[in-house]
Amino acid sequence: MIRFNNVNKWYGREHHVLKNINLKVNAGEVVVVCGPSGSGKSTLIRTINQLEPIEQGEIWVDEVQVNNPRTNINRLREEVGFVFQHFNLYPHLSVLDNITLAPIKVKKLAPEAARERALELLVRVGLEHKRDAYPSNLSGGQQQRVAIARGLAMQPKVMLFDEPTSALDPEMIGEVLQVMQDLAKSGMTMMVVTHEMGFAREVADRVIFLDHGEILEDTQPEWFFTRPQHERSRQFLRQVL
Ligand code: ADP
Ligand code: MG
Repeated sequence: MIRFNNVNKWYGREHHVLKNINLKVNAGEVVVVCGPSGSGKSTLIRTINQLEPIEQGEIWVDEVQVNNPRTNINRLREEVGFVFQHFNLYPHLSVLDNITLAPIKVKKLAPEAARERALELLVRVGLEHKRDAYPSNLSGGQQQRVAIARGLAMQPKVMLFDEPTSALDPEMIGEVLQVMQDLAKSGMTMMVVTHEMGFAREVADRVIFLDHGEILEDTQPEWFFTRPQHERSRQFLRQVL
């Protein structure tokens, strides 16, 4: 579903931020990306929907080559849902309108159908009772669950998450991880940047460890946590576990 072939990216001339990245994510797989701050995790997943361009190599999502000038980036972004650290909900729209906006505007879904789909998604994330609330009246955990529902409303093939729980108070992390775990069980293809190693251990099919823009580990969680291959990953694990 996602493929990186020899991908290199620089910021400016000097900063080689992604170094010869090769990776594959199969349909239905959940891949956790971890690594020290500044190692390139956000850059890596942002290249998948062309929020960041690449200088070398190829990225594919299903049958679409992301870094091809002829690729319709708006179409691509319909297929690839993205959940940010800071939920980025529209503050002036109700929960329901946040979720129905893109399906109506972009996918030309009839408002009634969009509303029905949104309500189903709100049930799924446990927030049907908040459909008429505004983002400012929701907790951080609730806002992030709405953001996930909003992403799912476009019926993407892939969902990307960039530290979805790191802006949350500790007591709200669990409810968001639970929604993500349910999504994983439903068969969604997911790439998740997170420091939540419990989630990685329980939910991920694979863990990728990034350091200075290089993939040092790409392995099953079991192996990552018990037999990391590099000193840098051992050091990272000592800090986060
Ligand atoms: P992570 O998500 O692992 O913390 P990032 O992908 O955000 O890492 O950043 C990787 C490196 O690239 C960092 O050194 C960061 O300062 C740098 N960087 C990130 N975004 C930009 C940008 N838009 N321009 C220049 N440098 C950037
Ligand atoms: Mg980041």
